[in-house]
Amino acid sequence: MTCKQLGGPCDHQHQGQTADDVIKAQDRHLNEMVAGGDTAHAPALKEMKGRWKHPIAGMGWYKTAKKDFAALPED
Ligand SMILES: [Zn+2]
Repeated sequence: MTCKQLGGPCDHQHQGQTADDVIKAQDRHLNEMVAGGDTAHAPALKEMKGRWKHPIAGMGWYKTAKKDFAALPED
């Protein structure tokens, strides 16, 4: 699953066994990119942080991400 598929701006690939793995990888990726001075990832990081703060509001996004992950072919 890519950064873009998870709401980010780039095509960075995340590998994971579960949707939770790739969501955590994306969270880490956003933090690393912004810490490295990348402003393109800042809005996505802000949204991601908002989801953790508002789990109910973030649940729709989380379910969509899980569904998208399940629909991907295994490689
Ligand atoms: Zn990215």
